[in-house]
Amino acid sequence: MRIAVDLDGVLANSMKTWLKIWHEETGQLIEFTELGDWFFWRKLKIDEETFMRILNKAWERWVEIPPTEDNIGEKVSRLKTLGRIDIVTARSRNTEKYAIEWLKHNKISFDKYVWVKNSEAKAELEYDVYIDDSPSLVEMLRNTGKLLLLYSQPWNRSIRETFNVKIIKNLDEAYLLLSRRRIF
Ligand SMILES: [Mg+2]
Repeated sequence: MRIAVDLDGVLANSMKTWLKIWHEETGQLIEFTELGDWFFWRKLKIDEETFMRILNKAWERWVEIPPTEDNIGEKVSRLKTLGRIDIVTARSRNTEKYAIEWLKHNKISFDKYVWVKNSEAKAELEYDVYIDDSPSLVEMLRNTGKLLLLYSQPWNRSIRETFNVKIIKNLDEAYLLLSRRRIF
């Protein structure tokens, strides 16, 4: 089984650090649970470039980025017993070195770190399973025979399950689901 695990929003809760920097820069406090939309930043009247600038800054401060779950390294290792685990991420390339440091620091072992330009490119790769928080992958993986385990986050709560989209609250749920599926 070839499993693509996303970094931001699945392993690393980088939006928490994003909100911290936003607060430092603007004085505005936004709760994590208020991020009810993938494009929430549009409501802040900023452009995508500004959103990315702050995300890059968050990664420069990678030590401050919390993992999404406790014992995340152990949980990824358990998933790794089921197949190949690649970290597949579409973030700004110049933050790659920080991402690698973060993965090391959080004791996350994986087979390969794969950088892609965007979600479209991600969907085209040869993986059986995607563990991701992006609502845009739902459409892109439709009718592909690939399974999307959508990692529950405030910005993807409106997505409903289909035969190839399953919502997971944590990585243990991913493990249970995948260990029961013997089709790969
Ligand atoms: Mg993500």
